[in-house]
Amino acid sequence: MAETEPPQAETLRLFFALWPDDATRDTLNRTGKWLHQHWGGRRMRADTLHITLAFLGSTPVDRLDTLFACADAVAVEPFELVLDQAGYWRHNRIGWLGASETPLPHHELVGALNTRLQEEGFPVDTRPHVPHVTLLRNSAGGEVQKCTPVRWAASDFVLVTSRTEPSGAQYEVIRRWPLA
Ligand code: ATP
Ligand code: MG
Repeated sequence: MAETEPPQAETLRLFFALWPDDATRDTLNRTGKWLHQHWGGRRMRADTLHITLAFLGSTPVDRLDTLFACADAVAVEPFELVLDQAGYWRHNRIGWLGASETPLPHHELVGALNTRLQEEGFPVDTRPHVPHVTLLRNSAGGEVQKCTPVRWAASDFVLVTSRTEPSGAQYEVIRRWPLA
């Protein structure tokens, strides 16, 4: 007789992120094209470009309301990120775009979110946060390079679902919170 599996709670793979507007996305994508010429690898699709603020991973859907409340409680003013250097992580062969100077509100946003998430028992990443846009995967990389600065006006943040499909990661913004 076949055994019946116990019912599994439905889950979503989730993360909080800064999500670029169309013009910023376009500029990021052009920077990705430039970096690819130097470092090679696989370029990220334009529609996937983002900055992760807090990665939650597999999360039961019945925790969504608590997650929304965590984000509701965040009060941080809008800010501008200036992404002016390309970096490379050897351990995961990722080429990325980052900032030589991170504005205080960005740190406040990451800190406030992670504090709320931790208080509600979500697993949070305790490593120091490096704001970055992943541009290249499986890249040979190189030395940190200065690049034409990409100005990113962050006026909101989002909660995103991530699904792995044969064509690569598929992200979908499920909710948006204004910075104020
Ligand atoms: P895939 O894993 O399918 O190759 P992906 O890495 O783009 O694709 P996710 O693993 O769902 O998709 O990650 C979503 C975002 O969260 C990415 O920006 C990723 O770099 C970041 N991320 C993933 N795992 C962690 C983690 N453990 N800590 C911090 N950020 C993470
Ligand atoms: Mg991943």
